Amino acid sequence: MTSSSTIAWFKRVRQGILAVATVVATGLMLPAEIFAQGRDFSAVAIKTHQVSDTIYMLEGAGGNIGVWAGDDGVFLVDDQYAPLTEKILAAIAEISDRDIRFLINTHIHPDHVGGNENLGRRGVAIIGHENIRSRLMDGVFNNPPPPDIALPVITFEDNITFHLNGEEAHAFKVPNSHTDGDTIIHFHGSDVLHTGDVFRTTSYPVIDTRHGGTFKGTIETLDIILEVASPDTKIIPGHGFVTDEIMVQTFRDMVATIGDRIAAMVADGKSIEAVLAAKVTAEFDERWGYPDGFFFTNDQFIQIIYNELAGEN
Ligand SMILES: [Zn+2]
Repeated sequence: MTSSSTIAWFKRVRQGILAVATVVATGLMLPAEIFAQGRDFSAVAIKTHQVSDTIYMLEGAGGNIGVWAGDDGVFLVDDQYAPLTEKILAAIAEISDRDIRFLINTHIHPDHVGGNENLGRRGVAIIGHENIRSRLMDGVFNNPPPPDIALPVITFEDNITFHLNGEEAHAFKVPNSHTDGDTIIHFHGSDVLHTGDVFRTTSYPVIDTRHGGTFKGTIETLDIILEVASPDTKIIPGHGFVTDEIMVQTFRDMVATIGDRIAAMVADGKSIEAVLAAKVTAEFDERWGYPDGFFFTNDQFIQIIYNELAGEN
């Protein structure tokens, strides 16, 4: 992609994902995290973390990949970016010599589904919530739709269960949180949960309102994760490190606290300018604020919640 078309593309992305951010000065934001365009992946190394006897997490660039490997074969959760597929396959080969049979997508963002086409061409069966398939077919962030081979070939409405490698994995649609296709996968025997991007250890949640994400759904889904998880459950977030329900509780309470503060100001008829001036996230910004260069700012996070609670979405 040429630099001018890259810039044009960034503009389209900003118009889309930040369509609600009309009050906040946006400055220059490169969507550094979720888009492959213009990025050099040559220095990215894939790091493997063993989570249980049969589950691994691959860390590279983009969303965390779950690998479920056993006698029956390999099952993947998400696949990062297309330029990383060969490195990802090499990392999986270190874990298992069995075939990669299935791939499930947690949601539509390019840092989670960018490898779909490569894996589809290798004969991997792609599974995804029906909203993921339809959103991808429409083209995400005004991108052209991918070829059919990159789309889920097996879709579900509520949930789907996999029986492989001597255990069951249950994938289920959660309320519209990060997007309207958010899917969480619970590996029952291993007691490992992959949450997709509803939960991350790296920053405030990202609520992609353009693709159906909601603040209230985010809280509901975090509560579902806390219901499903036990103190022993290992939790793979969409971004960040393997953790447990205590971290999810901390994250949930932080998000809910910010939401409660904004809700109180909305109930008092405060404007978005007044809410931003009140610095409702102040004590959380150091730990949870978006990193430099991120495509969202903390003020935009506040504004997305405000718009939803004020009924302005
Ligand atoms: Zn995402």
